[in-house]
Amino acid sequence: MSEEPQKPLDTGMAPNPEMAPDPRLERLYRGEKLQREDYLELIRSRDDLRKEASILACRVRDRIYGRQVFVRGLIEFTNHCRNNCHYCGIRADNKKLSRYRLAPAEIEDCTDAGYKLGFRTFVLQGGEDPYYTDEVLSGIVREIKRRHPDCAVTLSVGERSVESYRKLREAGTDRYLLRHETVNKRHYEKLHPKAMSYDNRMRCLKELKELGYQVGAGFMVGSPGQTDDDLADELVFLGELSPEMVGIGPFIPHKDTPYRDEPAGSAELTLFLLSLIRLTLPTALIPATTALGTIDPLGREKGIEAGANVLMPNLSPAEVRGKYMLYDNKICTGDEAAQAISRLKERVRKTGCEIVESRGDHKDWGE
Ligand code: SAM
Repeated sequence: MSEEPQKPLDTGMAPNPEMAPDPRLERLYRGEKLQREDYLELIRSRDDLRKEASILACRVRDRIYGRQVFVRGLIEFTNHCRNNCHYCGIRADNKKLSRYRLAPAEIEDCTDAGYKLGFRTFVLQGGEDPYYTDEVLSGIVREIKRRHPDCAVTLSVGERSVESYRKLREAGTDRYLLRHETVNKRHYEKLHPKAMSYDNRMRCLKELKELGYQVGAGFMVGSPGQTDDDLADELVFLGELSPEMVGIGPFIPHKDTPYRDEPAGSAELTLFLLSLIRLTLPTALIPATTALGTIDPLGREKGIEAGANVLMPNLSPAEVRGKYMLYDNKICTGDEAAQAISRLKERVRKTGCEIVESRGDHKDWGE
């Protein structure tokens, strides 16, 4: 880290022209690493620094990616799950949920529809559903790659063995999304049942990286028990792990989970953290998530204005979309539907950015 006194940046965005730009944000902007305490102070001062952080974050993003926003067609292909995460609406113990799983041919057909709409990345996400063995999933990935060789396939199907991750990679899977949910082991144990382990989650992330996947990590903002100290640790952790993708979104309670009465996380804090993540990991692919769009009708636009550069419209068949209810009132039939891509393009254009038809691989911009 440089010890030399630095000339303040002419950021042109201090909320009040009399105020000097924040030195910690300036250091992040210059590419310096911050200590945990610096992040903590930033988080505590978020109300004053929101605007400055978002302007710097967008500058960093634009320097690397231009004003491009990448879209991923999200196929939520099963809401069966063997796990019982306390926060999640598709947890095994939620007996009120009507369960579904898509047949391989249905998933593959979704990608055909998505391809015609201009999608070049497909994200297959689901609960941890043993029906989808390595053989079944590999077959689906191979078929999608055969039909659409110019597309990337991302899986987000939770914790599996290293052997399984290897087979899925060999089948052609390019990327894997596995949020770590929280970097604090005690907090992890609060959010999850005893059968789930923090160490296993971390093992999965490490193995996925070693197998050459482009990896996405992330956490919920405002999950029960989360503190500002935890958030500072999240930023340090992400800086060290350096995942290609980072997904964060506000925690939103679900009426049929143990956390039904917990308060939701805030859009403002999510947006501020999104800016800090962009400044910490300039080349990361960062979505403005569905949860952000659920808690605030303009959440996706605000996410892009805070430094995000990915949107994940829903490509699942219309008849199952309402059943992948991770949290109450999850949006699924409006402009987040992949079929509404032209409206989404218009909304993104208003932020000064442009949706592009591209796989949007991290390696194209990675340092
Ligand atoms: N089973 C896979 C896994 O665990 O990674 C993918 C599906 S899981 C439902 C996808 C993500 O949804 C989780 O990583 C979690 O962060 C998010 N999620 C679940 N319940 C949520 C809630 N109540 N509020 C906000 N996000 C939630």
